[in-house]
Amino acid sequence: MKLFNCRCGHRVFFENIRCEACNSQLGFDPKSLEMISIDWISDHYEDSSGSAYRCCKNQIEFNNCNWLQRADAPEEYCWSCQLNRTIPNLSSPPNRGRWLSLEQAKRRLVYSLLTHDLPVRSRIQGWPDGLAFDFVEDQRSNPNVSEQFVGTGHQNGVITINVAEADDLFRLRMRLSVGEFYRTVLGHFRHESGHYYYHILVEDESLDAFQNKFGDAAQDYATALAAYYKNGPSQAWNSQFISAYASAHPLEDWAETWAHYLLIKDSMETACVEGLVKSSMYFEQALQTWIDTAIKVNQINQDLGLDHPYPFVITDPVRDKLIFIDRLLAARPARQASNPNGNPKSELQKSAVLSPSHQPADDNKSPP
Ligand SMILES: [Zn+2]
Ligand SMILES: [Zn+2]
Ligand SMILES: [Zn+2]
Repeated sequence: MKLFNCRCGHRVFFENIRCEACNSQLGFDPKSLEMISIDWISDHYEDSSGSAYRCCKNQIEFNNCNWLQRADAPEEYCWSCQLNRTIPNLSSPPNRGRWLSLEQAKRRLVYSLLTHDLPVRSRIQGWPDGLAFDFVEDQRSNPNVSEQFVGTGHQNGVITINVAEADDLFRLRMRLSVGEFYRTVLGHFRHESGHYYYHILVEDESLDAFQNKFGDAAQDYATALAAYYKNGPSQAWNSQFISAYASAHPLEDWAETWAHYLLIKDSMETACVEGLVKSSMYFEQALQTWIDTAIKVNQINQDLGLDHPYPFVITDPVRDKLIFIDRLLAARPARQASNPNGNPKSELQKSAVLSPSHQPADDNKSPP
C-alpha cells in the first residue's frame, strides 16, 4: 500500500476516515488512488482544490466504506461497493462485523487491481463480462438459512464468499480441517479474482504459454478436485506449487499463483514506501528481495511468539509461474476502459438470502 498523508501532513492509512492529528474527514478516491481530506460544503464534500465528492452509500447507511464518489457520478455506491450483488443479511448481528471485514479486504483487492490497470467493472452496473460479489451464509455458521453448504468460489465473473470466512474461528477450523498453512479473507479475494482474470488475460491469447507453465486447463475439473480431496496432494507438491491446493488442477494453480503474485506486489509496495527496500526494481529482483524480507518478517514474528505469517517456499517452477504472470500484466495496454461509469444501473445490492436460482460456484476450497 502507498503512503498517504492528510493535508495537515500527518500520516494516514487506507482504512482511516479521520485524521487523528487535525480531525479532517478523509476518504479514498479510487480514480486518483489517493486518500483525500474533505470538508462538508452545504450539500457535498470538497477537497482543498475544490473537487466535489460524495461518500459511498454504504458509508452513509452502514458506516462501512471510506471510499468516495465524484459528486457528479450517477452511482450512489463507490467503485468497490458497486461490485456487490448480495451483501450479508444484516438482521443477524454477527454479520455486521463480518461484512466490515469482507468489505475491507475487498477494497484492498480492488486497490491492487486498479494499481495493475486491470479492468474492474461492475456486472450490476451493466457490464455483462464484469465482476459481481455474493456474500452468503450457509448452515455451518447460521442454522436459520436454507443453504447447507456455500463454497467460496468463482463462476463467470460472480465471486461467492462464504460470510463465515470473515470469522476467525471458522477460518481456523477450516484451515486445520483441510491442512492449510495460510487462510485469510484477503487471500480468498485474491484467489477468486484470479479465476476471473484468467478469462481476461489468458484464455484467448496466451493459452499455449499458460499450458507450458501450468498444464492443461481443459483437464476435467470435477474429477481433478474430487481426486484431490480424496487422496490429498502428491508428496512432492511443494517442489512445483505454491500451495498444496494449487496442485489440484491447473486452474487452481493459476489462481493460487495469481493470489501470491498480488500478495508479493502489495507487500513490496509497502516495503518500498516504508524504506525497507529500494523502489523501481524489476519483478525478478523484487521477488528475491521479497523472499529475503519475508524471512525477516517470519523471524520477527517468532520473536513475538507468533507463527510464521509467511509459510511459503518459492521454488524455481513457482518463480517461473510468478514471472509469467508479471509478463502477462506488463504486456497489457494500460487502463483499458477500466472506468466503471457510463452504464445504466440494472440492479442494486441487496441484503438478502440467496435466490433459489443461485448456482454454487465452480471453485470449492471448502468441501463439506
Ligand atoms: Zn490532518
Ligand atoms: Zn463503497
Ligand atoms: Zn479456485
